[in-house]
Amino acid sequence: MVSASNNQALKIKYRDIAIFKFFKKIFSVNESSASASIATSPESQARIYPRAEHCISRAQISENALKVLQRLKKADYEAYLVGGCVRDLLLGREPKDFDVATNASPEQVKQVFRNCRIIGRRFRLAHVFFGREIIEVATFRGSELEESDQQVIHEDGRLLRDNVFGTLEEDVWRRDFTVNALYYNIRDFSVVDYTGGMQDHANAVLRLIGDPNIRYREDPVRMLRAIRFAVKLGFTLHPDTEQPIYTQAELLKSIPAARLYDEVLKLFLTGYGVQTFEMLRHYGLFAILFPATDKCLETEDHDFPRLFLSRALENSDLRFADGKSLTPYFLLSALLWEPLQLMAAKLMINGENETIAYQTAANEVLSRQIKITALPRHITQSMRDVWFMQNKFSRTVGSRPYRLLEQPKFRAAFDFLQLRAETGGADAELVEWWTHFQVADEDQRRQMTAPPKSGSTKPKGKPRRYRAKTKSSKPQ
Ligand code: ATP
Ligand code: MG
Repeated sequence: MVSASNNQALKIKYRDIAIFKFFKKIFSVNESSASASIATSPESQARIYPRAEHCISRAQISENALKVLQRLKKADYEAYLVGGCVRDLLLGREPKDFDVATNASPEQVKQVFRNCRIIGRRFRLAHVFFGREIIEVATFRGSELEESDQQVIHEDGRLLRDNVFGTLEEDVWRRDFTVNALYYNIRDFSVVDYTGGMQDHANAVLRLIGDPNIRYREDPVRMLRAIRFAVKLGFTLHPDTEQPIYTQAELLKSIPAARLYDEVLKLFLTGYGVQTFEMLRHYGLFAILFPATDKCLETEDHDFPRLFLSRALENSDLRFADGKSLTPYFLLSALLWEPLQLMAAKLMINGENETIAYQTAANEVLSRQIKITALPRHITQSMRDVWFMQNKFSRTVGSRPYRLLEQPKFRAAFDFLQLRAETGGADAELVEWWTHFQVADEDQRRQMTAPPKSGSTKPKGKPRRYRAKTKSSKPQ
């Protein structure tokens, strides 16, 4: 609920705004006493790093981003590269995408580019399309935090809408980390730095701009971004940026599930899943994103689930490094596998048959998770496919293996089985059997799937069932 009537909340909010402005002032004063070797523009406290003092060359910038910058400049607007691309270029890395900041309003940007669409409600932006590449052009945000039609602040401090436009100098303070608030100026190829981002960049420090408590409250997703960037860049979290995360993780509960789903994909599917997972757990953030999984990891007295998850993440990271495609459903299946197994096991103890137990458990586990991270339907469907096939792998007699092989998600399900086997959660012999079966000729397949000789009722390759024990579980 957006409330302007709640006096207490408003008082807190305006106190926060006062602190924010005060902090901004302090920051500016420090910046103005910058070393003499760095140019200071007369009307502000920005440090300007001329082309000779940084390593960003136009050759590293996407042609389309350059086109956007040049065309805005030609139309007499200010135009800068900003955010992750500047940060990554300074590290000599290839940026994931290029973001542009300008003083042109989204409508004015649209007038300059025919291939442009205005998007977003919370933050209105222009997207300029060049085939598959999109250059995001954001208008400078204003610095004043106040309730209006264009800017809506929740009583808990969250910024729900922010469409008040301003100048570059104001825009700077709305960004998250100092290293994300560096602006590459297309007019003279300099880098503009108001917040000490260049220094932090050189020291490999990730520091939130402003008062971290306020900034996390304004947008709790910044806690996840802090972890993601620290891992990806190999930067250290500044103590002031790090400390509040331990106590404010719960704030993430107020974030819409669709946004958290997007963040989860960025956290786990961009090549640094293993370390990200460890850090999220360390700060208590994983428990908010995947509470059921976290509970299993906390309470189980053996290491299977952790090993399995680490292997799954490691696998994704390796695939990412090799430039292979990554499907979110595979990793999500792994992330929720343990809660699914536990719940299915409980249902089976209460007399439910295996198929129904797994279906019921999947419904329950997924419906709880969707409330936190809105997994799209096609993803949950694929997760169910992978999960439900796991038990079918043990049926190696008759026509069933042939049918399983025909399933669209067979490959993913088999990879999943392999991961389980590697970490002690499934029978390695079964994996061998299926590896062989996939490449066997017709004769061999017939022999492999022949019913067992009389007297033996045990199907081939019956997997060893591992039962997850919980510390709290009673002896069964
Ligand atoms: P990458 O694209 O490599 O993941 P990025 O820093 O470019 O990293 P984006 O999400 O593309 O991240 O955002 C672009 C820029 O917008 C950021 O660098 C930052 O300056 C600003 N920004 C993005 N999200 C936030 C936020 N939640 N709060 C404040 N500023 C933000
Ligand atoms: Mg970006």
